[in-house]
Amino acid sequence: MFGLNIQNSLDVDEEYHTLDDYQNSESRWCPGCGNSPILTSLQILCRDEQLPPEKTVFVSGIGCSSRLPHYMKTYGFHGLHGRALPIAEGIKMRRPDLHVFVNMGDGDCCSIGTAHWIHAIRYNMNMVAILHDNNIYGMTKKQASPTSPKGMKTNTTPLGADLEPLNPTCTTLGVKNVSFVAQAVDWIPDVLHDIIQQAFHHHGFSFVRIMQRCPHYLPTNPLLSSPDKLMLLTHEHGLNVSDAVSKIYTNQRIHDPCDLTRARELASMEDNFAIGILYRNENIPCYEELRKPKWATTAELKQIAFEKEQNKFGIDTMTMENI
Ligand code: SF4
Repeated sequence: MFGLNIQNSLDVDEEYHTLDDYQNSESRWCPGCGNSPILTSLQILCRDEQLPPEKTVFVSGIGCSSRLPHYMKTYGFHGLHGRALPIAEGIKMRRPDLHVFVNMGDGDCCSIGTAHWIHAIRYNMNMVAILHDNNIYGMTKKQASPTSPKGMKTNTTPLGADLEPLNPTCTTLGVKNVSFVAQAVDWIPDVLHDIIQQAFHHHGFSFVRIMQRCPHYLPTNPLLSSPDKLMLLTHEHGLNVSDAVSKIYTNQRIHDPCDLTRARELASMEDNFAIGILYRNENIPCYEELRKPKWATTAELKQIAFEKEQNKFGIDTMTMENI
């Protein structure tokens, strides 16, 4: 009478992964930090796409945002400052079957990691690279980063930053083989999630620059307080904005992500910040496919490959006799 009625039990697929399967420890970011909604969006993506945790890797460099792999219950690699991309490329080269995500800060990617970033665009390996752009070095206590606006007072520029900031989106759009570029802000979750999802589905190197709040060091954020400065780029092959979002963010333009010249113009706007898919090109080959290693698949081929490797270290007895 009190036994479990199998007929009425929940029909849940054993392999189905819930959000819990991707959530690791509590994050240590400051309250209100924009890294938190980015993390949530990535966990939701993993759940929605049912990514096997054992086949998913998050790679980071150094900085506040680079703690992200610790908060994912997947594989992770918390690397060196600016070196997240070569680590991710090594993983992808050896294991192209893995889903690879890279999380970098603006200091991490656009300063010490610049060479790796430029070549990662050119190599176009199939992964999602997320730039958490908060315009500041947060972890090392408010130093100017390459994206800090001119005049911003920081601990390294107490009289205000002297230089015009680097625009990471324009830079990415200028590199040969660029294949996917998008921009988002961390505080419009629906749009953020849509963009991250489209980046994931792109076959190639998906570069997503997310304007990320740092309330600890930059409590006033001009983009946050002026929704009219955010320009949503809509298109049947780009963003599809909900009515609720459209009511707040009325500044919208139709933009075809195939149009690279227009993408560059939109990325360089000074008065507005474009949100959406700026550029997408599915026809650029991925480096890991061009250089696909010829792995030995059968026992016989493995034996041949093994002997070939062993022979590299063999010593010719004839040579030995002549010594
Ligand atoms: Fe986030 Fe800024 Fe705090 Fe770092 S310092 S955790 S970026 S709010």
